[in-house]
Amino acid sequence: MSSSGKVYLVGAGPGDPELITMKGHRLLRTCDAVVYDYLVSTAMLEWLRPDCERHYVGKRAGLHALPQEEIEDLLVRLAREGKQVVRLKGGDPFIFGRGGEEALTLRKHGIAYEVVPAVTAALGCAAYVGVPLTHRKFSSSVTFISGHEQPGKEAVLEIDWGSHAQSGSTLVLYMAMGRLEEICQQLTARGMSPTTPVCVVEWGTTPRQRSVSGQLQDIVWRVQEAGVGAPAVVIIGAVAALGDSLSWFDPVI
Ligand code: SAH
Repeated sequence: MSSSGKVYLVGAGPGDPELITMKGHRLLRTCDAVVYDYLVSTAMLEWLRPDCERHYVGKRAGLHALPQEEIEDLLVRLAREGKQVVRLKGGDPFIFGRGGEEALTLRKHGIAYEVVPAVTAALGCAAYVGVPLTHRKFSSSVTFISGHEQPGKEAVLEIDWGSHAQSGSTLVLYMAMGRLEEICQQLTARGMSPTTPVCVVEWGTTPRQRSVSGQLQDIVWRVQEAGVGAPAVVIIGAVAALGDSLSWFDPVI
């Protein structure tokens, strides 16, 4: 067993391959093995060495290509074979990406690792629809929330919608499309104005990007009408209305 194996938990960014960091790009070009997810742009695989080992472990909502424990076992095995392994994850590895769980497993097994941050979906999507997540006039904080409280069958974390409804912070919801109606109702019931602007961005920063704007009271209907679904982020707050005048990205399909 070689001791020089190492795992790099690399964020791929939200879609546009050019949004990866230079460090992530360098590691992809040189690594011995890559373990990658569903939301990772396949254009990035063209940077790999021809002899680089490729492992697709992608997931879709409710449909796991490979259970998390097996992904972690795979990372440990590849590193123990002495390989330089890139664990390529959509967005940032430490934002709703289970990167923390993978790092803990690697640490437990004494495997060396590094974490390479990246543009998380909230930042990429907001930028590409022209929504500044903070703005001196409208919002001085931003909160990332997972709308999917029970990924897999793990512990349910209670989200305090009341405190979010009252905070004045821009809210960005990940994994929320399946529960959008309930979340909008919760926020309205707990004091957020029904006319609060909302912008939903599907496949942000990719050629498939689509967005729908509305208000807390009508966004569910608008999203249904447009047929917009996962992967999407939901941006809630006064800044969401600015996308109408600041948008600049023309997706080309
Ligand atoms: N680690 C990732 C998030 C993984 S959770 C990150 O930092 O971005 C998966 C969720 O991220 C999706 O359900 C969706 O809410 C969001 N997401 C990821 N890529 C996206 C994209 N290109 N456009 C819109 N939402 C995206």
